[in-house]
Amino acid sequence: MQNVKILVSNDDGIYSPGLLALAEVATAYGLVRVVAPDVEQSAMGHAITISRPLHYRPTPISGLEAYRVDGTPADCVVLGTHHWEKVDLVLSGINLGSNLGNETWHSGTVAAAKQAALLGIPAIAFSTPVNGKEPNFQALKPWVGKVLETLLREPKPFLVNVNLPPKPKGLLWTRQSVRIYEGKIVPGADPMGRPHFWFTAMPDHEPEEGTDRWAVNQGLVSLTPLRLDLTDEARLQQAYQLVR
Ligand code: MN
Repeated sequence: MQNVKILVSNDDGIYSPGLLALAEVATAYGLVRVVAPDVEQSAMGHAITISRPLHYRPTPISGLEAYRVDGTPADCVVLGTHHWEKVDLVLSGINLGSNLGNETWHSGTVAAAKQAALLGIPAIAFSTPVNGKEPNFQALKPWVGKVLETLLREPKPFLVNVNLPPKPKGLLWTRQSVRIYEGKIVPGADPMGRPHFWFTAMPDHEPEEGTDRWAVNQGLVSLTPLRLDLTDEARLQQAYQLVR
């Protein structure tokens, strides 16, 4: 087990309690190294930094080998795997906030795992909702362990988006809930009366059974397998028919 190299990253930044919780669980499954953004990079999606150089600086946290990067979550995975040969598994999170349904597109947490998948490395993104108070990471840690044990038995490589409810009672394989977009713009004004706009995304429909959001609402840990190929297969088949 100790020969398994596990790279841990996130998008909330290297000092996030969710990152520490995930890294601590991972130490039971292999050799752990943390490479994470120096500041919060939530909702950066799969951005990479190409217009300036990046820095990779040792920043041990709680006795773990760790490095901070002045870049995005995807940058961290690229630099982390560059500095550490033959990484076996990349874990991202635990994000402070769910990454369900359409949120998956904006998520830096999921993007770190996607970047690993692009490099051919099995990867798991972990997120948990924040409803006004800090998640109880101590209570979630055994469930993170259960997920790791389940996924380490799966054929490799894999890319899985995991969302943990506050008090899990089981695991469920799910699909991503995709219906209408939940993004909203809330107008307001600053103290000087200048108009400004807040972006927000609130689910405005009941989730369909079997989806990621439905599972978390049921108190189940949602495991959604993702793929890198975005091709619309049905549309492609239709288009082939038209060409003929
Ligand atoms: Mn985040």
